[in-house]
Amino acid sequence: MQSFHCLGCGQAAYLRNDWCARCQAPLGFSPEHWAFMPLEAAQAEGLRPCAHRATGLCNWLVSADDTHEHCISCRMTECLPALGRTEVDRPVYRLELAKRRLLLSLRELGLPALPGETRQPLRFAFLEDLPDQPAVITGHAQGLITVNIKEGDPRQRLDEQLAMGEPQRTLLGHLRHESGHFYWDEWIGADAGWQTRFRELFGDEQLDYAQALAEHHAHPRPWDPLRPEGAISRYALAHPWEDWAETWAHYLLMVDALSETALGEDQDEALRTTQASKLAGHLVRDTELNDLVNTWLQRARDGNALNRALGLPDAYPFVIDEGVRAKLGFVHELVREQACAR
Ligand SMILES: [Zn+2]
Ligand SMILES: [Zn+2]
Ligand SMILES: [Zn+2]
Repeated sequence: MQSFHCLGCGQAAYLRNDWCARCQAPLGFSPEHWAFMPLEAAQAEGLRPCAHRATGLCNWLVSADDTHEHCISCRMTECLPALGRTEVDRPVYRLELAKRRLLLSLRELGLPALPGETRQPLRFAFLEDLPDQPAVITGHAQGLITVNIKEGDPRQRLDEQLAMGEPQRTLLGHLRHESGHFYWDEWIGADAGWQTRFRELFGDEQLDYAQALAEHHAHPRPWDPLRPEGAISRYALAHPWEDWAETWAHYLLMVDALSETALGEDQDEALRTTQASKLAGHLVRDTELNDLVNTWLQRARDGNALNRALGLPDAYPFVIDEGVRAKLGFVHELVREQACAR
């Protein structure tokens, strides 16, 4: 994900910013202009804040003559719990922020995601467990990504992390993973050629899915992160679809991190931003998978060294073996084809 700056004064602006730390202007993000704009300047450009700005949930802008009161991102969320309670608002805010990051990184890659761009519309439901109702299960079905908002509470997520043996469990990770199921339906399930190649690498997805997941949870197969044997995570062993979704999420993680960090520190801010917006596209179009992975592993080693010096666990505790590399290569080729098709 590229970095942004305030169009008013050039100060760095991050996805969560709704005001500028230097010029103090209230800021909104315009997906059309791909920039953070002071609200006054945005108004002059015919833009207004998303209606969710009033609830603190969103800092995006929308065209003043749009009939929809919400921005393009918020209108993709079909269901939210009733707001106005801190125990609900905070987790929902974190989920919406992670969702906006996912949408921007997909756009940077040139991939379809927004309303009107995909065969099935991509939608989100962020739901809470309610008394006398079935538990909310995080997952994807027919374009709808559902996430239980308890994932947005760091303490509850830590419990799940420990219980499921998934140290990298994050909101962004969940959303990337579920978007993988969405794109499987869009691109692989709908194309006999890609489906055949998929089965050669990931296995036959016609295997009973519910049974495979039940089996995985009851008797998880042994998995050693230092010898992954072609599976990027333990959960990837559950079913070919999960293997795909985990690999897809990992590919997004690499490209996202590389496009944010791959620029020289000596470049000035404007140049960095212009170049960064082209960088994700460049990583996909002009970079071979092996070069991409090797560059990424160098960066990851730096991140791990920093964490070890701080006495923290490795930021990137993964090994990419030949099997995982082949699967990432499949994702790379597919992303190239889909990005170029637009
Ligand atoms: Zn500013
Ligand atoms: Zn919004
Ligand atoms: Zn999944």
